[in-house]
Amino acid sequence: MSSTIDRTAALERLRASVPPNVREVCDRLAGAGFQSVAVGGAVRDAILGREPGDWDVATAATPDQVMGLFKRTIPTGLQHGTVTIVTGRGIESHVEVTTYRGEGAYTDARRPDHVRFGVPLVEDLARRDLRVNAMAYDPSTHELIDPYAGMADLEQGVLRAVGPTGSVYDDAVGRFTEDGLRVMRAVRFAAKLELPLDPDTERGITPALPSLAKVSRERVSDELRKILATRRPSLALVPALRSGIIESIIPALAKIEVSGWVARVDRAPLDARLGAFVGDLGVLAGKRLDTKNVKLIGDLLRALKFSNEELTLASSIASALPATAITDWSEPDLRRLLSDVTRPRAALAVALWDAAGSALAERGTAILARGDALATSELAITGTDLMTELGMPAGPAIGKTLRALFERVLDEPALNARDTLLGLART
Ligand code: ATP
Ligand code: MG
Repeated sequence: MSSTIDRTAALERLRASVPPNVREVCDRLAGAGFQSVAVGGAVRDAILGREPGDWDVATAATPDQVMGLFKRTIPTGLQHGTVTIVTGRGIESHVEVTTYRGEGAYTDARRPDHVRFGVPLVEDLARRDLRVNAMAYDPSTHELIDPYAGMADLEQGVLRAVGPTGSVYDDAVGRFTEDGLRVMRAVRFAAKLELPLDPDTERGITPALPSLAKVSRERVSDELRKILATRRPSLALVPALRSGIIESIIPALAKIEVSGWVARVDRAPLDARLGAFVGDLGVLAGKRLDTKNVKLIGDLLRALKFSNEELTLASSIASALPATAITDWSEPDLRRLLSDVTRPRAALAVALWDAAGSALAERGTAILARGDALATSELAITGTDLMTELGMPAGPAIGKTLRALFERVLDEPALNARDTLLGLART
């Protein structure tokens, strides 16, 4: 896939999209003699005509020099050379400015051993991950600074690692080994930008996987979360599976059959994506929702540092997925299954069935649309009714009666009417 990006038009898009406060910060620094540029993701996105996220500024000025030029600054990360400039009210007025820096060796595969200030912009750009993320735009001179040919990659519609060696494969192995998170970033950008990784860059992932193993699980799940939030997560998941990333982070998932899996993740609504992703771990479950499976999937996601809320939802809907393998569900069985999933999650479990292309989705949707009771609390009577109407004493018999009525209603939803239930309770 190759297209020509009209460079003049791309530069105009850059000029037009730099926010006024970012431009003012760059102009003030440039006026004091320090080259200052917008850099990274926002430059890439503006060229592509996508809505840029945060604008990051890089500058030749040292943090002290930056702080000397602006009235209101926050020393956000001085050890990395980052100062936040407050240009107005609210967080949107903040501009992060980072001094050009080079990096020493990475002996721990997470952070450089030391950073060096006083390096030229090209060296700052060289430490970035992908060529498309290593472009800078100088608003004062209206110049694109692109020493690693990121624009050419955008034109060719491909993502390559930045690097000094001239061999894309060697560069990729080097960059990915330095910081193990970069392999996940690489596949994430493949999905986010909907551009494939160049084959040599993708090949560079596998030898770098020992570095990924050293990265904190919080950073790994952050990337996974961002991947699952893209329009088509499969564009990241397929290369992640092919290169061994998935096997590195969730070994059990690496054995699954790809085609149904990735299609299901792509089709799932956002809130069901994590459940769709781990859904195949639920295949061990029997006909009913298996609590052992819920726990197994929950533990796995907990180890990856997903929040309780995220992992409870994902493990419960993922564990309802094996139901799609069974075709002879009766209506009462299906209601019992959705009752096990619980009301707050039932709609997402059904959405996941739909994403999996299962005929159960239509039947589940009908049950939810009719409002069939899925819990004792959804019966047309309460424990108080049993006491006041039938004179039952408070105690365990109340709960037992309600549960018995609920079982009847699961079989026959039409029974869920006040008088009918009171009549049943009497007998
Ligand atoms: P997003 O739209 O997801 O924010 P981004 O490109 O802005 O994408 P950030 O994580 O915000 O990504 O990082 C900003 C820039 O910093 C990147 O474009 C890249 O140049 C550089 N960068 C960030 N993280 C890394 C990393 N782990 N290794 C190398 N370079 C990185
Ligand atoms: Mg960003």
